[in-house]
Amino acid sequence: MIEIKNISKTFKNNKVLDGIDLTINQGDVVAIIGPSGTGKSTFLRCVDRLEKPETGTITIDGETQDLAHIHGKDLTELRKKTGMVFQNFNLFSKKTALQNVMEGLIVVKKMKKEEAERIAREQLKNVGLLDHANHYPRHMSGGQQQRVAIARALAMEPKLLLLDEPTSALDPELVGEVLDTIKKAANEGYTMLLVSHEMSFVRNVATRVIFLDGGKILEDGTPREVFGNPKNERVKEFFTKIN
Ligand code: ATP
Ligand code: MG
Repeated sequence: MIEIKNISKTFKNNKVLDGIDLTINQGDVVAIIGPSGTGKSTFLRCVDRLEKPETGTITIDGETQDLAHIHGKDLTELRKKTGMVFQNFNLFSKKTALQNVMEGLIVVKKMKKEEAERIAREQLKNVGLLDHANHYPRHMSGGQQQRVAIARALAMEPKLLLLDEPTSALDPELVGEVLDTIKKAANEGYTMLLVSHEMSFVRNVATRVIFLDGGKILEDGTPREVFGNPKNERVKEFFTKIN
């Protein structure tokens, strides 16, 4: 179980997150939806401390960390337990697909090169890109790059995989292959926290949907509950606008 408690984040006078609590069960795929600029990315970034919140804790496997003050070894440990997949892939441009997946295993997990390479090849195979192992990012499509990024994150065996709009920078014809890769990881039992505008995908893979607006979680339930019968007026309005 992963317990996130009381995350607050303010940029200048803009209180983006106002004491967010979220408990995620193992194997859950939690989708965060909500209007643009509402703090979805900020929330993910606070969870793995790319952004520093004013308050907030995270408990993974019974171990609690204070996100406002975590540093050094504890921060490294937190980063080992969380993996992030970004909108723009963020691969190392001067490394091949294989080297991209190996990097964290060697640098963060201190694995021997042979072991790292074995795992990296396995992960590339999983996302259907073993034949692209020696390709550089610039020679791969956006969809392929994002699949390498997913392989790279999964290679670290994260307790929580964070994905921030993983398909929104892709040409429409490349979205499907990335969604399939994420769906496969979900079926394998990875615990995920995902921001996505692909509502049909959210409906399909998420076990739980939360709606974030005004710094708070306004809705929290199964896709059926949140899409089918939202209780909050702001959430209802959001759905009428996007449909
Ligand atoms: P979108 O759906 O457009 O991706 P979002 O829900 O992910 O939006 P965030 O990117 O988390 O929203 O931004 C939330 C708010 O915080 C916005 O008002 C944004 O302008 C502000 N913000 C985000 N990052 C910073 C920053 N580094 N400095 C100042 N303000 C920021
Ligand atoms: Mg965002």
